[in-house]
Amino acid sequence: MRALQTHIRSGQGSGLHLENKDANVPRMGPASILPNIKSPGAEGLAPLLMEHGFPRYRAGQILQWIYQHHAARFDEMTNIAKPDRARLASLFSILSLDPIRVERSTDGTRKFLFRLEDDHAVESVLIPDEERMTLCISSQVGCRQACRFCLTGSSGFLRDLHGWEIADQVLQIARVLRKEGDRTITNIVLMGMGEPLDNYDEVIAALKIITAADGLGLSPRRITLSTAGLAPQIVQLGASGNRVNLAISLNAPNDAVRDRIMPVNRRHPLKELLAACKKYPLDPRRRITFEYVLLKGVNDSEDDAVAVARLLKGIRCKINLIPFNPFPGAPFERPDDSTVRRFQNILLDRHYTAPVRESRGRDISAACGQLRERISG
Ligand code: SAH
Repeated sequence: MRALQTHIRSGQGSGLHLENKDANVPRMGPASILPNIKSPGAEGLAPLLMEHGFPRYRAGQILQWIYQHHAARFDEMTNIAKPDRARLASLFSILSLDPIRVERSTDGTRKFLFRLEDDHAVESVLIPDEERMTLCISSQVGCRQACRFCLTGSSGFLRDLHGWEIADQVLQIARVLRKEGDRTITNIVLMGMGEPLDNYDEVIAALKIITAADGLGLSPRRITLSTAGLAPQIVQLGASGNRVNLAISLNAPNDAVRDRIMPVNRRHPLKELLAACKKYPLDPRRRITFEYVLLKGVNDSEDDAVAVARLLKGIRCKINLIPFNPFPGAPFERPDDSTVRRFQNILLDRHYTAPVRESRGRDISAACGQLRERISG
């Protein structure tokens, strides 16, 4: 699930969905927009409100209204006194990501395109299966990692997402699902566009909103952060107390191959990466996930499988095998099914859990490494 950057052509509106319809809030154009109440995040809101003379508990009330009751305006917040609501509306706006397009795959996967304040855009992918409703969200517009098998990598980096923009992908899709009376989001994966650990602080801020009891209220156990392997930030995340699941895009059996396909490996080679993984605090019965994109003739041989098994020895983990999703101009091919099976069997023989993961939503370019959205006029 790798969402790709989009830049929306100018002249298509403010680029922002301003939901605050309170009379005294200006509604036109980003320049006139009041500070966004979502920006300070789960921990920053109370101190900010107190600076304005509001009691501390207002923060919890407002977070609940926004993230649980899906309020779009202060005047919906009926347990806050009317004069306070009016003052809030005179001080703050409630900005939201604007879901401007949804595509639906024959397999039920849905891809949402969100417009950002500055007319960039990001995508999120909603993937239903029997037990789960997994939402794959983006953390950056574009990506700096330049992994050669990934379309985002070849498109460069535009900007980091703010914490509230990362969390708002979840909120906006939760709103859609609630309106439909459909199932709710059960799991979140940070596997969309961008490298989450390259936008560390904002991702942590987003996780706080997503997990806060007054916020979206999801358990960290239901959240998986996937990284290309920024070892120092893996250590930092482990020490931070945010007990989310960790996924590592391994994709190679050794440094020689990894250096070639993932430039990050030249800065943080496998030894450093795996040492960081070994330090990562795991609750009982939790495992690290290693993702392994199988590239024909590059990392898919029997020797490669044996080497991967050796490399991960001693790490409580599972290995998701993902046959490469091609895109136009991609310098790699997908291995045939028998090669994939052979690779898998070598890992299974060595007692690893190693499912083959077929990406969902391939017909709407929602699959790993395939998403490239453009809004064309
Ligand atoms: N930057 C993060 C998250 C985004 S990538 C990371 O690197 O983990 C999410 C997953 O999609 C990664 O495991 C990546 O290896 C995989 N992926 C990227 N391009 C792909 C492609 N073309 N085919 C299959 N999987 C791909």
